[in-house]
Amino acid sequence: MRTRLAAFSLALWIGVGSAAPQPARPKNVILLIGDGMGVGALMQFIAAKGDKVLTRFPRGALVLTQPLNEDRWVTDSAAAATAMATGEKTLNGLLSLRPKASGFDTLRTIVEEAEARGKATGIVVTCQVTHATPAAFYAHASRSQEGEIAIQLLDSGLDVVLGGGTSFFLPVGEGEGRREDGRNLLNELRRRGYHVITDTLEFRRAGVPLPVPVIGLFAPVALAPPPERRPTLAQMVAKAIATLRTNPRGFFLMVEGSQIDWAAHSNDAARELEETQDFVAAVEVALDFATADGNTLVIVTADHDTGGLAVTGGDRRNRQVEVRYVGGEHTANPAPFFAFGPGSDRFPGMMANDFIGKVLMEFVRQQ
Ligand SMILES: [Zn+2]
Repeated sequence: MRTRLAAFSLALWIGVGSAAPQPARPKNVILLIGDGMGVGALMQFIAAKGDKVLTRFPRGALVLTQPLNEDRWVTDSAAAATAMATGEKTLNGLLSLRPKASGFDTLRTIVEEAEARGKATGIVVTCQVTHATPAAFYAHASRSQEGEIAIQLLDSGLDVVLGGGTSFFLPVGEGEGRREDGRNLLNELRRRGYHVITDTLEFRRAGVPLPVPVIGLFAPVALAPPPERRPTLAQMVAKAIATLRTNPRGFFLMVEGSQIDWAAHSNDAARELEETQDFVAAVEVALDFATADGNTLVIVTADHDTGGLAVTGGDRRNRQVEVRYVGGEHTANPAPFFAFGPGSDRFPGMMANDFIGKVLMEFVRQQ
């Protein structure tokens, strides 16, 4: 590490007076994914609640989300998350695996890469931590194998894991446990040194920074929807950042507003608005940290659009909004993308989702 720093200073020295400046590279990366948060979901939020947070991003873009499947326009969360987590596209349904002539190639994830370089890593979501989007960042499986994904979390090296999903970690007969193999993965995590937190009060009392490594699971499966959600996504993100930032080599944090997608699947616009608000509040926490820190890249994007929501009417004077969905499935509409901080100039106005993963992987490797 010392050699690399010296080489970097030398490059800076030689660079004095020359035309090409060194490209800025972030020390920390925070990737916030609104699952299913298409441009229409954002427009509904902006119309109803205002645009104070998203207008703080100096850069924006559109992301093409097509999976590796040549006969598909529309992605699922597994393929889209894999593209951002590894820089490689895969087939719908697969998590950081890609089919080859026989069997699968294992795609290296940004969490694995960051861990290998001594950086801190974290995942904060409002679904179960074994669900498709978070799982693509640390596991190699089919998205339906949530019991197996929970086992793979044991060896992930993740420093901070916050979300829901105790039932995937406990055996049948213990609480809401649904594991058929009799394993109690929460006890196995404790034996590996994890601080295991399973209720909100304990989370509040655990202080800041949290003891690491830490896993906080606040529901048997997904967290309750807002306004009952405790902790909120923003509360979890605040503690995660305060914890991860103590690593002098920097950190990678993935945050997901997981249930925007679920509300959109059921064409529940009011609930989709509340979920988007919960997500944007977390974006604001990340942005405030990055603004003060100066070495942090914040990216806000979606894995795909869900429902094809559009604002079709309403009254601007009282922020009344009318919306319509085209259906209950994902669509191929490009996903919105916002970037703030060093490295944000690496992203063009239109890109494929695996390009995001490629650039982030490069940033983690260059540190
Ligand atoms: Zn979905």
